[in-house]
Amino acid sequence: MITYFVRKITTSLKVTEIIRESPDTFTFKFKALDNIKWKPGSHTHFMSSNLRKGNKLNIRLMRKLSIMTHPSENEIGFTTRIRNNSSEFKKSLYNLKINDEIRCFKPVNNFKDLNFNKPIVLISMGVGIATFRPIVLEYLANSTTNSFITNINIDRVDSFIYDKEFKNFPNNIVKNCFVKNRDDLYKEIKATFSNKENIYYIVGSTDFNKAISKYLLNNQISKNSILFDKRKS
Ligand SMILES: Cc1cc2nc3c(=O)[nH]c(=O)nc-3n(C[C@H](O)[C@H](O)[C@H](O)COP(=O)(O)OP(=O)(O)OC[C@H]3O[C@@H](n4cnc5c(N)ncnc54)[C@H](O)[C@@H]3O)c2cc1C
Repeated sequence: MITYFVRKITTSLKVTEIIRESPDTFTFKFKALDNIKWKPGSHTHFMSSNLRKGNKLNIRLMRKLSIMTHPSENEIGFTTRIRNNSSEFKKSLYNLKINDEIRCFKPVNNFKDLNFNKPIVLISMGVGIATFRPIVLEYLANSTTNSFITNINIDRVDSFIYDKEFKNFPNNIVKNCFVKNRDDLYKEIKATFSNKENIYYIVGSTDFNKAISKYLLNNQISKNSILFDKRKS
């Protein structure tokens, strides 16, 4: 009964592309059907089961993931890390093949009302940059004379996610700072303080969000200028 109900309120997505961004980082893309509408910066619950052929609902196969594609790209994608000893959910993602189906719920957006007249500072940890990719595309498409993006991403690995694409964005609008350690992270954030107009967008773990928020507030950035994609993990 519950499986039937969930099948009714979710949408089936067919895998169109699997990109290995780095040894343990994967982007999965799906054909976007007309009944799924999302705005840049959205996330949704993805279920790595199609709930067909007797497959029952299993909440262990469900996670919130950010949609890394812009609506104009006509495909839905997410980026995630799949490491050794991964969860049941990640293992089933790893086994996905082209044309396999998964399901998703209605997208939700914690980053509404992008202001294209203000400079923005995007601060993310690892795959958190996925949330920002469609926001950057939207911002670039609507840029004004005041538009400027500082994109700061911290990761321990050698290859940063989407770095080639981000480095190709017009450098009069997008400044990229891909850093590997906390000292460099805070140095790059500090460098943004000269512009009092900045709006700060933060995507990371709860601890990361708390630490960055504390640092910004301690440096007289107003609470209203700090936005989070409320992550719990
Ligand atoms: C709004 C939002 C957007 C998100 N967007 C993304 C995204 O775009 N990409 C993405 O990858 N993730 C995203 N996440 C996080 C995502 O939902 C998952 O929590 C994350 O990917 C980890 O999933 P997992 O299955 O690997 O680990 P989980 O099973 O969810 O476990 C979380 C952590 O706990 C550890 N753990 C779990 N069980 C045990 C245990 N028994 N003993 C020891 N350690 C354990 C795991 O190793 C893991 O590090 C988002 C979360 C939110 C809230």
